[in-house]
Amino acid sequence: MNKYRDYDNYLKEYPDEEGYFGRYGGNYLEDPELVKAFREYADGYNTIAQSSKFIAELRYIRRHFQGRPTPTYHCQKLSDKLGMTQIYVKREDLNHTGAHKLNHCMGEGLLAKYMGKKKLIAETGAGQHGVALATAAAYFGMECDIYMGEVDMAKQAPNVSRMKMLGARVVPVTEGARTLKEAVDAAFRAYSEEYHDAIYCIGTAAGPHPFPLMVRDFQKVVGDEAREQFIEQTGHLPDKVVAAVGGGSNAIGAFVPFIADPVEIIGVEPGGRGRETGENAASISYGREGVMHGFNSYMLADEEGQPAAVYSNASGLDYPSVGPEHAMLKDMGRVKYETVSDEEAIEAMFMLSGCEGIIPAIESSHALAYAIRLAREVGKPESVLVNLSGRGDKDIDYVIGKYGLDFADDMGKGLQR
Ligand SMILES: *Cc1c(COP(=O)(O)O)cnc(C)c1O
Repeated sequence: MNKYRDYDNYLKEYPDEEGYFGRYGGNYLEDPELVKAFREYADGYNTIAQSSKFIAELRYIRRHFQGRPTPTYHCQKLSDKLGMTQIYVKREDLNHTGAHKLNHCMGEGLLAKYMGKKKLIAETGAGQHGVALATAAAYFGMECDIYMGEVDMAKQAPNVSRMKMLGARVVPVTEGARTLKEAVDAAFRAYSEEYHDAIYCIGTAAGPHPFPLMVRDFQKVVGDEAREQFIEQTGHLPDKVVAAVGGGSNAIGAFVPFIADPVEIIGVEPGGRGRETGENAASISYGREGVMHGFNSYMLADEEGQPAAVYSNASGLDYPSVGPEHAMLKDMGRVKYETVSDEEAIEAMFMLSGCEGIIPAIESSHALAYAIRLAREVGKPESVLVNLSGRGDKDIDYVIGKYGLDFADDMGKGLQR
């Protein structure tokens, strides 16, 4: 009867030794130096990170530096306003640096320390991953090189200042379109030259093996805590668990602890301005299978099979591929993937802010918007747990500039309180 029983050994079964989640994932890198570097990385992860010493130190960091556990909060007023659905949020906005990204950056930094490395290398687009990694580097007293396209550096000046203040070196990338794609190439190049002293730290649950596995394991703390907190508060499991999917790290961390439970799981992709416009970043909903950045998954490609130009008003969600575990979970039918538009996300952002006193990131607002849609459509009492991946302070200038305070006023009349 319980169809979820099949998932009892899920974490043991996936990924396999080569880093495959079913047909997705793997390691398709060609540079022999990088292949060597990633093998060392995977070995390090499989041995060191499973030791009790490593686990104990990471637990200490989570508690005393990051401020974990973060709360799970019942949005009573928002729920009452919408009807019968009870909405709960896992407060990753209260994790140090204001989002879930630090969960895997601290794990990666700790692994670097145990592997005897002295430097952390990464690229960043909007700068959120760069800030989280620079924070980890400062904690561990390591050097930190963040590769960032010149165009992105100009757009995200406050995050550039943050990284520098945290002691990182921000390396401007001047090739091509001078944005994320070129920054990824530059960071990989640096890693293949420096891997004896440095490790590369990815920003999401994607990339070649062992990244999808490692990032999932480091993010699992979110779902583990939320599951326990939810049961403690309500005496039962949530009916549904919802999270936004960019590359997929906050979502996979929230999902896997519920994988063998009788709980519906929904990943929310950025629908942007809609499917027809091409201005979206819904890799699973609108994409197809393909290899990109060294792993196989669903991707949005142009006519030549190259990564497509993608768009979302949430800069943390505009990635043309997605973590391979999500691709497998989609094919298995265990997780459902839906889209939410730019505007729905902004509406959700204003509602939570005015109703509950929590300003969510636009990324997280996509997940919340889906829960709000459920609350309006489902005519029976049920509970929905939303992973609130980050805080929205970084987005306020953009949102008010683009949508105006009138939007907030309109919300105020009808919806806010
Ligand atoms: C980066 C980011 C995301 C998207 O990344 P995932 O790897 O899909 O979780 C979501 N929310 C916030 C707040 C982010 O900073």
